[in-house]
Amino acid sequence: MSDGRQKITVLGSTGSIGVSTLDVISRHQDRYQVYALTANSRVSELQRQCERFQPVAAVVGTAAAAAVLERNLRAKDVKTQVLYGRESLLEIASSAESDAVMCAIVGAAGLEPSLAVIKAGKKLMLANKEALVMSGHLFIEAVNQYGAVLLPIDSEHNAIFQCLPHPRHMSHLQGVSKILLTASGGPFLHHPVEMLDHVTPEEAIAHPKWVMGRKISVDSATMMNKGLEVIEAHWLFGIPAEQIEVVIHPQSVIHSMVSYVDGAILAQMGNPDMRIPIAHALAYPERMSSGATPLDLAAVGTLQFEAPDFDRFPGIRLAYDALKAGGSAPAVLNAANEVAVQAFLDRRIGFRQIETLVAKTMEKVAIVQSLTDIGSILSEDRKARSVAEGFIS
Ligand code: NAD
Ligand code: MG
Repeated sequence: MSDGRQKITVLGSTGSIGVSTLDVISRHQDRYQVYALTANSRVSELQRQCERFQPVAAVVGTAAAAAVLERNLRAKDVKTQVLYGRESLLEIASSAESDAVMCAIVGAAGLEPSLAVIKAGKKLMLANKEALVMSGHLFIEAVNQYGAVLLPIDSEHNAIFQCLPHPRHMSHLQGVSKILLTASGGPFLHHPVEMLDHVTPEEAIAHPKWVMGRKISVDSATMMNKGLEVIEAHWLFGIPAEQIEVVIHPQSVIHSMVSYVDGAILAQMGNPDMRIPIAHALAYPERMSSGATPLDLAAVGTLQFEAPDFDRFPGIRLAYDALKAGGSAPAVLNAANEVAVQAFLDRRIGFRQIETLVAKTMEKVAIVQSLTDIGSILSEDRKARSVAEGFIS
């Protein structure tokens, strides 16, 4: 029986974005209820979430994890149905029972679940930028074909969305001259370049402004995150690479800007708190509280801006190159980067080797221009991963 509340599924509920999403939902239980939650391996965290939100279903990665979760939930009299594996994840993502889905899975693993949401014609709140980077126009084509509603959660893209001339029609860009994508610059913005060879995973994931998952934190330190976001912006808003400019803004108060032909620039501001874009997307086109502290401009005092240094952060240039090369190039960039970041976190390679590895993989893997389905993108993804792994070992 429906009680008028929207039913929300959170894919990747145990991660940083997943937890923030549940925090926003918990503030508005009159409007939302949780339909399903999914996680890969953090079963005890997922169990706590199931106890609190009592979803209809929960999905984990393996049968063993599902057995543990099921036993613990039954012991507490929680009735959530426990499922596991890829097929169940896709089934839950596309379930007719939910009204909207947050995709907060990290990496390429988010592509198929995101597409499943789209093919069910649902509202997709997309945090998982890697999906869009990999599949670009096929993804956007599917959104249009199935009449899905796509709302960006990445703070920059959500900010741009809010500053567009017609947010409801993201690619109607009348009067837009440029998108100004802001970047904090990460923890190594002014670190001596020669010292970058020696930074540790702990130093790399200590982001000065945002608390995030490990992978995106390393991406922020190399600034490959901004490169991925350039590609993400290109596909979301249908804007050419030449009209997307990266601006370093260390305070992370402006989350991005849209520059218009008459000289006006619209910026979206706020404290760096992902609950702001999450609440925006959940309530859109309405507004509701997010739990974030309002920005105190007098306390911030100064806003600074500088141009990015592509020599210090070659990841941004590699991403622009991949976007220009087209076809499978962004998927190869993304796959190589995922392998390299994991290798860095596992202390198998140094920090600066992340970009070297991405560049070498992009040189070696031939670009396939006509990608007609997701299967061919996933096959290029696998190819790139094995080439990148080959370079490491
Ligand atoms: P995280 O590592 O904290 O969480 C990732 C989630 O994905 C976890 O719930 C995990 O269980 C799940 N997961 C991981 N591998 C999986 C797999 N193979 N199959 C199914 N589920 C899997 O990551 P995060 O920081 O929350 O980021 C999630 C996504 O949002 C990323 O794509 C990231 O780029 C994007 N994003 C994050 C932030 C942020 O502030 N954290 C900001 C903007 C965009
Ligand atoms: Mg971002």
